[in-house]
Amino acid sequence: MKQDEIIKAIIASAGDSPETRRQYLLQYLCQIQHRLSYIPGDAITQLAAMLQMPAAGIRGVIGFYAFLHEQPRGDYDILLSDSITDHMLGSRMLLQQLCNSLGVEIGVPRADGRVTVATTSCTGICDQGPAMLVNGQVISRLSGSRIDRICKLIETGTNISQWPAEFFQLEDNIRRRDLLLADETAAASPDGSALRVLLESGADALLDVIEKSGLRGRGGAGFRTAMKWRFCKQAAADNHYVVCNADEGEPGTFKDRVLLDSYADSVFEGMTLCAGVIGASRGYLYLRGEYRYLLEPLAAVLQQRRENGLLGQRILGKDGFDFDIEIHLGAGAYICGEESSLIESLEGKRGIPRNRPPFPVTHGFLKKPTVVNNVETFMAAARIAALGADWFCIAGTAESTGTKLLSISGDCERPGIYEYPFGVTIKQVLEDCGATNTQAVQVAGAAGTTLPVAEAGRCIAFEDVSTGGSFMIFNNERKLLDMVQNFAHFFAHESCGFCTPCRVGGSLLKDLVDKLVNGHATQYDITAMQQIGALMKRTSLCGLGSTAPNPVLDLLERFPQLVEDRLAHSGYEPAFDLDAALQEARDITGRDDAGAHIEAST
Ligand code: SF4
Repeated sequence: MKQDEIIKAIIASAGDSPETRRQYLLQYLCQIQHRLSYIPGDAITQLAAMLQMPAAGIRGVIGFYAFLHEQPRGDYDILLSDSITDHMLGSRMLLQQLCNSLGVEIGVPRADGRVTVATTSCTGICDQGPAMLVNGQVISRLSGSRIDRICKLIETGTNISQWPAEFFQLEDNIRRRDLLLADETAAASPDGSALRVLLESGADALLDVIEKSGLRGRGGAGFRTAMKWRFCKQAAADNHYVVCNADEGEPGTFKDRVLLDSYADSVFEGMTLCAGVIGASRGYLYLRGEYRYLLEPLAAVLQQRRENGLLGQRILGKDGFDFDIEIHLGAGAYICGEESSLIESLEGKRGIPRNRPPFPVTHGFLKKPTVVNNVETFMAAARIAALGADWFCIAGTAESTGTKLLSISGDCERPGIYEYPFGVTIKQVLEDCGATNTQAVQVAGAAGTTLPVAEAGRCIAFEDVSTGGSFMIFNNERKLLDMVQNFAHFFAHESCGFCTPCRVGGSLLKDLVDKLVNGHATQYDITAMQQIGALMKRTSLCGLGSTAPNPVLDLLERFPQLVEDRLAHSGYEPAFDLDAALQEARDITGRDDAGAHIEAST
């Protein structure tokens, strides 16, 4: 099929009006990228005409998302996971091996167009790393020999469909089940019982049950689910929307991958339940671009639910209970995990966070009342509706009822998914996953908190250590500064750039952390880090900027000795060697006298 026909076919999948089509801009771009490996200039011109919007606006969207490109990628487009746990498993050496064997520079397509090798922040495979994506397909458990085999397959032009099946095997790795996952069959294949409860008891009674259960959002912020649904239900509008945030981008988090892989039916049941409560007829699952390989299996689950009368028109035969779900893909922007950015992205735009208030429950998708909840939250809501509030309250603490899924990775014998009642101590978690010689745990990902093992008596709960799910372990052999440096670079890269404290502060923090790691920092720099971190927390527009300094500030506060050991001296030292930087000028001018050196002339 010719390129313009491909684009016409892609666009034909949406409505006729340019306005409706513009909402799908990001989805069109993702599909074009997927089909052509890039978004050619004439495709942009064609899209601009069909969507009646400026080409510059389309380019602005492309530039925002890391997985969209205006230049061709290689036939094999490789993205190696760059998360700290992958580093700990040797990913940097494997990246070097890959580049050397294939003769490529990072991020630059090989001259023959065969292959591109680049990195991405985290692929969500931290329990089975090091991992990479090849044309969107995930390959886990990389080793030197596996890299060798991959290079041979690439050089011989072997189609990915003919690569060894074991390369693509991915385990769920569920190591501990509790309330939510204990009954595997019911959790994986709900029979619509949650929806029947809704139809029998009505929306208000169902909301009372969810309120009594104490369910709070599992993304980490912990907003009360019943309150969110009630606010949305009460907001008058001609349309309401349900959005499932499956943009699991926090480094070290991978539980949504497993839930979407094996328990998607329950997640969709929870979304449908929410729709029945708030009166929505449309829902969206926003799937992170790294999980594109889940797109087809998820679409198959949706289709099965339609055939079973659990989705679509007249759900369970009830007149007026009409609801369907679309899957929208993200494209490599961490900020889109923030709910207002996610909504912007769903509308086809750059994922810049919105000013709040108003909040999405009254002005969300297309400015209509919208519930945005996490994958795990929707699943829990469906199970609570089916089994009751008391079933849920049996586990957890007063402020944090129920259970929490943890994605455990790093220095332990048994990484994977662990479901615990809220209130479990970090010490217990470490014992269960086989962690020994632990120096620190990083809970809730890059935006979370780093705790020394001396604080392992603390609990996973909203009232103590809150987490969206990430739980990374570092033993005594690890350099925690490497982790802090990785996160500082991550945030500088992922800042959307909209507000100055985050855009500039994140970059300054990154440079200061580099200076510390390189042994050039002084007390002056430590004070600067504290001041910049505090400013970012106080003045950033959204959660990304206000949490970005956490790893640095935790390091300074909880691991002062590590910092002290890296300080050059107590005075001031510039971030780079100015005298060395002038060498090129000295070479050009042929001068090497005392006046041409900084030390001598100052
Ligand atoms: Fe963008 Fe950072 Fe500002 Fe959030 S805090 S709006 S990510 S620049």
